[in-house]
Amino acid sequence: MLKGKNALVTGSTSGIGLGIAEGLAAQGVNLVLNGFGDAKEIETLRAGLATKFGVKVLYDGADMSKADQIEAMMHKAEKDLGGIDILVNNAGIQHVAPVDEFPVNKWDAIIAINMSSTFHTTRCALAYMKKQGWGRIINIASAHALVASPFKSAYVAAKHGVMGFTKTVALEVAEKGITVNAICPGYVLTPLVEKQIPDTAKARGITEEQVKRDVLLAAQPTKKFVTVEELAGTTIFLCSDAAASITGTNISVEGGWTAH
Ligand code: NAD
Repeated sequence: MLKGKNALVTGSTSGIGLGIAEGLAAQGVNLVLNGFGDAKEIETLRAGLATKFGVKVLYDGADMSKADQIEAMMHKAEKDLGGIDILVNNAGIQHVAPVDEFPVNKWDAIIAINMSSTFHTTRCALAYMKKQGWGRIINIASAHALVASPFKSAYVAAKHGVMGFTKTVALEVAEKGITVNAICPGYVLTPLVEKQIPDTAKARGITEEQVKRDVLLAAQPTKKFVTVEELAGTTIFLCSDAAASITGTNISVEGGWTAH
């Protein structure tokens, strides 16, 4: 069903983005990978996915905090693949600190990478999708797009912004065969989460084990981390014909967190 379509997944050299990229490749989708990392490791990853799934896999290292680099990546992707059918806005970073101590440069980076990059990729992707009369835009938001936690002011603000952006664009393109949705994951044990454990421990004055048990999984009634495979499956569902009437909304994949 998705075979031969082209997807761009931002922040796909690690964690959730990589899991989604792999899931899409397994469906026969050609890919543009994006994200930071060791050049040799990224090339091994790129070539490995192409060989394993028999799809085209390109890599673009555009910095998602830079509008001009995002534009260049989108134009290049269109030139090299013919257009992006599936856009997954996933790149994101985190910083944990009380708001009155929050470093201004971290605030600016989180707003740029977690929220504004979604605007820049979307505005560049729409012309082709409109021409095709088909498109899927999937924004990897967070449970923090719906509820807050202390010490994550920039992240929560950015993710709530992504949710508002998702609804707005969905309304604008509703008659064009393009759906725009957010996936709101709970905690997934990726490098992004592993990195914030020491800072959360410091901010709350507790141990790292207590952070995992009493802070992270305290929010998730299932008491399990969400997996990247589950998020890839949700993405593929949103790309399917069965999801053609799902737009402007979010799918929570967070073990019951926001049911509280
Ligand atoms: P991760 O740290 O494992 O991966 C982040 C990816 O983004 C990497 O590929 C990294 O290179 C890339 N990236 C970071 N800054 C970039 C930049 N300036 N330009 C281009 N690429 C950049 O993180 P993850 O946990 O896989 O998170 C992916 C997304 O999922 C994020 O938007 C995050 O907010 C969201 N999310 C994660 C969780 C979780 O528990 N891990 C929960 C909810 C939402």
